[in-house]
Amino acid sequence: MKVFKFGGASVKDAAAVRNVKDIIKDFSDQKELVVVVSAMGKTTNLIEKIVVKFIKNDNYSTEIETLKSFHLTIADELFINKEASIFNQIEKIIHDLEVNLKLRYFSNDELYDQVVCYGELLSTHIISAYLNQEKVETKFLDARIYIQTDEHWREASIDWNWTTKMIKADLPEYLQNGIVVTQGFIGGTVNNKSTTLGREGSDYTAAIFAYCLDAERVCVWKDVPGIMSSDPRRIKEVEKFDKLPYKYAAELTYFGASVIHNKTIRPLALKNIPLFVNSFLDPKAKGTSIGDFADFPTTPSVIFKGNQTFIRFEEQDYLNVSKGDLGVILTECARLNIKVNMIKNSALSLSICVNHRQDKIEKLIHLFDDRFKIEMIKELELVTIKNYNEDSIQSLNLSLDDVYMRQYSRDTLQIVVNEGSI
Ligand code: ASP
Ligand code: MG
Repeated sequence: MKVFKFGGASVKDAAAVRNVKDIIKDFSDQKELVVVVSAMGKTTNLIEKIVVKFIKNDNYSTEIETLKSFHLTIADELFINKEASIFNQIEKIIHDLEVNLKLRYFSNDELYDQVVCYGELLSTHIISAYLNQEKVETKFLDARIYIQTDEHWREASIDWNWTTKMIKADLPEYLQNGIVVTQGFIGGTVNNKSTTLGREGSDYTAAIFAYCLDAERVCVWKDVPGIMSSDPRRIKEVEKFDKLPYKYAAELTYFGASVIHNKTIRPLALKNIPLFVNSFLDPKAKGTSIGDFADFPTTPSVIFKGNQTFIRFEEQDYLNVSKGDLGVILTECARLNIKVNMIKNSALSLSICVNHRQDKIEKLIHLFDDRFKIEMIKELELVTIKNYNEDSIQSLNLSLDDVYMRQYSRDTLQIVVNEGSI
């Protein structure tokens, strides 16, 4: 069996959804296929906005209206029968979203997960119903029942035992009769709560289904021709990789390459399931295949990871930072789930570069501000050059004033700079 994954851009309007239907018809035999779909276009951002406004007690009715009209318009263009149940279903799903928004939760992160999941529920209901109209038999699957997770809101961890059991129990039979359509990005807990797997997490969902079903391959359909050595919007000289070893792909995504969610590679590599990255705009073109290949690329790759924050802890009283503080600070980062991307220590200070999360960073600083003088700088970018050489460094045209941290290893150079300085 195979797994296809379609991201938000590939289902952003009615024409895009028709294209998805064509790809499914042309590139699968219409059974033995799991189709994982993200929320349509920028829906997740829109629902995030609703959550933020609700928390702040602001009026969010415009956003609800936008959400409704966006999906109803797409449905209107797709469905021949204007009485089709999908129109009511869209209204009902958005009504449920509003009900869930107003329930009581222990934390805002829990609230977020109970509401943001509706983006994917909307898209999959529409796509499943549309495929049925187009005579492609589908089985709609609520991923929250199958992707079992813990209650780590907004970045839930998979309970692999239960997830495998649930998927193996039902899917083989469903797959005999048609295409299974399900949501990326979302999961559920034993207490029937919704969870999310981290932004852009639909690729990961595809890998989870593939792992549990021992798929023969996974194909993610993107708006790019494949995996590129660097972001072509920012770097002049880029090349498309035809083949990439799992390890190399895992490194690129770890450094911040956003074509594939960083958790995607591991489950596939463990079972040696190949991953194909193809373009939904040019589906016949050869994309990138990721697998158990021996040859590692040697061309320089420049990878940008935005939304970084630099934090410097400076000793107040000339005590040596290395005296155990390093461990304590990093342990607290791990406990608060702050992702540390770079570390530098000196006699009197420890500097780290982390993914920005305002609430978590505030908690971290609060823990240590009586002991250290703390400096924090936001809106930075982590730039990694894998396989760097003189030319690739020169091409960034960097002024040293912009550099907050810099680290070299044999094949990797990383710098932290002001956003917008490259
Ligand atoms: N819809 C989610 C997001 O935009 C998940 C995904 O697209 O993979 O983050
Ligand atoms: Mg998306």
